[in-house]
Amino acid sequence: MQQYLQQDIQFLPGVGPKRADILREELNISTLEDLLTYYPYRYVDRSRFFKISDVTSDMPFIQIKGKIQGYASIGKGRGKRLVADFTDGSGRLELVWFRGAKWIPENYPIGKELVVFGKPSVYQRKLNVVHPELEDPEKKHVVSSSLQAVYSTTERLKDNYLTSKAISKLMANLIKDLPRKFEETLPAWLLQKLNLINLDTAMRQIHFPDATAQYKKAELRLKFEELFYIQLNILQGKNERNKRFRGNVFETVGESFNTFYTEHLPFELTGAQKKVMKEIRRDMGSGRQMNRLLQGDVGSGKTLVALMSLLIAIDNGFQTCIMAPTEILAQQHFKSINSFLDGMDVRVELLTGSVKKAVRIPIHEGLLDGTVHILIGTHAVIEDVVQFKRLGLVVIDEQHRFGVAQRARLWNKADVLPHVLVMTATPIPRTLAMTLYGDLDVSVIDELPPGRKAIVTRHSYDSKRLMVFGFLKKQLALGRQAYIVYPLIKESESMDYKDLEDGLESISRAFPPPQYQVSVVHGKMKPEEKEASMAHFVAGRTHIMVATTVIEVGVDVSNASIMIIESAERFGLSQLHQLRGRVGRGADQSYCILMTAYKLSDEGRKRIETMVQTNDGFEIAEVDLKLRGPGDIEGTQQSGVPFNLKIAHLGRDSQILQLARDTAELIISEDPNLKLEKNFIFVKHIKKGNPKRIDWGKIS
Ligand code: ADP
Ligand code: MG
Repeated sequence: MQQYLQQDIQFLPGVGPKRADILREELNISTLEDLLTYYPYRYVDRSRFFKISDVTSDMPFIQIKGKIQGYASIGKGRGKRLVADFTDGSGRLELVWFRGAKWIPENYPIGKELVVFGKPSVYQRKLNVVHPELEDPEKKHVVSSSLQAVYSTTERLKDNYLTSKAISKLMANLIKDLPRKFEETLPAWLLQKLNLINLDTAMRQIHFPDATAQYKKAELRLKFEELFYIQLNILQGKNERNKRFRGNVFETVGESFNTFYTEHLPFELTGAQKKVMKEIRRDMGSGRQMNRLLQGDVGSGKTLVALMSLLIAIDNGFQTCIMAPTEILAQQHFKSINSFLDGMDVRVELLTGSVKKAVRIPIHEGLLDGTVHILIGTHAVIEDVVQFKRLGLVVIDEQHRFGVAQRARLWNKADVLPHVLVMTATPIPRTLAMTLYGDLDVSVIDELPPGRKAIVTRHSYDSKRLMVFGFLKKQLALGRQAYIVYPLIKESESMDYKDLEDGLESISRAFPPPQYQVSVVHGKMKPEEKEASMAHFVAGRTHIMVATTVIEVGVDVSNASIMIIESAERFGLSQLHQLRGRVGRGADQSYCILMTAYKLSDEGRKRIETMVQTNDGFEIAEVDLKLRGPGDIEGTQQSGVPFNLKIAHLGRDSQILQLARDTAELIISEDPNLKLEKNFIFVKHIKKGNPKRIDWGKIS
């Protein structure tokens, strides 16, 4: 059967070489199995007819029985279309075609009873259906009485008559001729335990369901299987890695840590920080190599946790390094760590792209002879020339900007792999973290240091800008500073710069010098200019910083307490949250004002509302995941979502994912090498769990 399903799609009746090419190029379908796992994205109920008088434009696909009363050809050029006047006695509806104007009236004559199927919409206040499917109710064949699967298609597919209906027909041909049942991929004991239907039934029902309950069961079964094998794969890999790679054991908590903790730490750690420190210490003392993801909102005190971890490594005779995504961030870490450690006998060095050669050389020497304890830097750190004498712990800030491969390269720098702590301020929902970074253990700082005032977030329409400026003036009069951020999207770059320039002009008019000073930072400036402009703002010489999103990560100005985001509807949720995190760092009440046009898309409105309602990064990340899907979650493109999910959705199927994770955990803890007979079937299918998975063993 498995072999049968590997056959080329072109030999399936109804396909042929040309359509096979199109299917491959458009949908990545080249075998029978590929087609079978091209699952419907929804179903329509074709047993029910609607009355035109009940139809509204927000309905999904529906069907109506009625008659065409006349045809007309309307418009010119690209707007040219054929319009049919359709009625069922309860009301009227326009049917519209931009193509096929010739053969439609011939096939569907005026006055004949027809079934119209399509998505209703409104154009110029009239209800219409564009490119409907039409059927003769007497000739209604195959499909009909019940639920029909809908497959997504592309323009090119449709142009070649590969509509959803055509795909459904191919699917029917394929399933009808299958020589055998689908081979089961999960053991009977598990199906029984979780009350899942068998694969054969699921595959048939997912494409041709008998009823809603049936496709729901099919969906559950197939989603579970997909997520389960990913989890099983991850957990088994992790298990093997733990056995194979030893980690340096940091036994002692020594002088640097104790001095810092008792004499330098200016405040009490939060409960969350203490909890995470415990987790990290346990990892670093276990003899296994630590791979831990430290999640925490902006300002939750991750850097401090990282610093204390470094001190433990140093106390045990090891060197450490911190990698930051940008030069500014690296510098900021350097500055704050130096001030935390002021007066202690710890050598900290900064290595970034702009560090001069003369300065670099002694740093390299210090790394080689072991006298540099903490190296802070950007990507330059991982250049091959950088050699440590005894690297024990690597902290990676802002995981997203570093690919998995870069993480792996670092590991080559020591005999025994250094412990790795990855920090991220872009919270990843648990469900996603479990899958994307399933090989990492996850710690969460879910508590802000005491005394922080929650940032007040408001939504304001562009038309109210003068009021916003008035508010800003009052705040500036109190001695605060403000950011005003403009979007800069690659596709509309020149227009965005125009917006920025126009905005800058009106800001200068509203906030004229010498009373007000404005800094500008954007991507077209030279790095030195950017730095200088930023430095003015940091030093408090300018009051307002007008910028594009370059300030998203990094800058930490505790006196800046107002963040105004222009065209906020154009930003993604997590980006908005990151930007907002630039304020609220000092003792003053901070504000974030989201400016938008009056008209907003549903999704845009949801994003703005979410921001106004909550400051909780995890909650925001969950909403983001639901709205956009994991492939689009900021940053994950760079590290690459390593899975090609065919049916499950990481945002919407979190419960199934949890079940998959729990099940896999149970199996691996009972039978780590899948040696028990009842688990044999897993061995055969576990590879499916992650075709694109990186083999850590090979890299190190
Ligand atoms: P993150 O790296 O998570 O954005 P930081 O470690 O930079 O957060 O901490 C943000 C600010 O809060 C810093 O000024 C830091 O000194 C301070 N801070 C960290 N932990 C505490 C704490 N437990 N109590 C008070 N202030 C803290
Ligand atoms: Mg930080």
